[in-house]
Amino acid sequence: IFNTVPVAPPDAILGLNTQYRSDPSPNKVNLGVGAYRTAEGQPYVLPVVRRVEQALANDPTTTHEYLPQDGLKQFCDLSANLILGPDSPALVDNRSVTVQALSGTGALRVGFTFVARFLSSETAVYIPKPSWSNHKNVVVQSGLPPTREYRYFDYGTGAVDMEGMIEDLKAAPAGSMVLLHGCAHNPTGADPTHEQWEQVLKVVQEGKLVPFFDNAYQGFASGSLQMDAWSVRRFVKAGLDMMVGQSYAKNMGLYGERVGALTVISSEGGNNEGIRSQLKAIIRAMYSNPPKHGAMVAARILGDTEMFAEWMREKLRGALVRIGTPGNWDHIVNQIGMFSFTGLTAAQVEFMKDKYHIYMTSNGRISMAGLTDDTVEYVAEAMKDAVVS
Ligand code: PMP
Repeated sequence: IFNTVPVAPPDAILGLNTQYRSDPSPNKVNLGVGAYRTAEGQPYVLPVVRRVEQALANDPTTTHEYLPQDGLKQFCDLSANLILGPDSPALVDNRSVTVQALSGTGALRVGFTFVARFLSSETAVYIPKPSWSNHKNVVVQSGLPPTREYRYFDYGTGAVDMEGMIEDLKAAPAGSMVLLHGCAHNPTGADPTHEQWEQVLKVVQEGKLVPFFDNAYQGFASGSLQMDAWSVRRFVKAGLDMMVGQSYAKNMGLYGERVGALTVISSEGGNNEGIRSQLKAIIRAMYSNPPKHGAMVAARILGDTEMFAEWMREKLRGALVRIGTPGNWDHIVNQIGMFSFTGLTAAQVEFMKDKYHIYMTSNGRISMAGLTDDTVEYVAEAMKDAVVS
């Protein structure tokens, strides 16, 4: 009975890993997947994470009891504080509900299921074009219609296409959800300025849209957790109904531990019990309750998060300029976060894979985390060759 099940198309990002692993070249470099590596290209565990894990292991009161469906309360409270700020009107007025989630993806999945069930299963969801490739999958699997796109990136300038974005959001029907990357937009690395966020806020308010902020990179855009929460906090201050997803995969390097949170903020307040009970009911049927270990680690180190350096960007640009690669590479430094849109074409990306064994997504996005001291020059040389060939 299972023989008619068709093979699913490979995931745009995870499929690259498979190709990379089976490439025998000693020169191969993987710039596809966003996970930080040591100077030798090995997985990196933050020293503070190691310390907390050792302390937990040696603490006789550490147990493996179940968490409640909505997770570790202390972790949820600290997460809400981290993204909203301790003096957030949503927290002060008790208008928000935070539940633990299976990292950023899980926050989106539970959040959109909640929308499908309690707003409407017909709710239109607008995502930026381009966006993280999994957004559209999560929305549809949550029981909502296929995503719609709003223009986001200007390939000419390498910056946000404000005009296009505003025009498309103005055309969205009232009640639509708009997915916004809180900071360090993936894959473009281009974020709106504060003034541009104000424009987006105005359109969202006037059009009665419901924002869902996806925050997978808090701490990566500016290096400051507070600055990177600016957009979310600005929208909360405006008193909107909105949702906020958080992930600790990148900023704490807890990728596989699936540590994240979902916060639902209500403009009026007064129904926290209804919202929380339904989120718990969704979680109960999906996976019953979230894992404990990562949330315990995150809860202990929140407020002491170590930041990742932006110097790889500087190095890559420096190398490209030094070896005389044609073109202006300032955008490598000006873009922010873990990813950079190099501007390489799909053909140039293929060229780099075939000739140099360097892997990146076909849209020319590279993960800064894939670069090391040793590979940065090699990658720059290959990019030069791809550009001049
Ligand atoms: N949103 C965006 C924009 C992302 O880039 C990612 C990870 N690449 C996620 C969400 C989810 O990641 P995770 O589930 O590992 O937290």
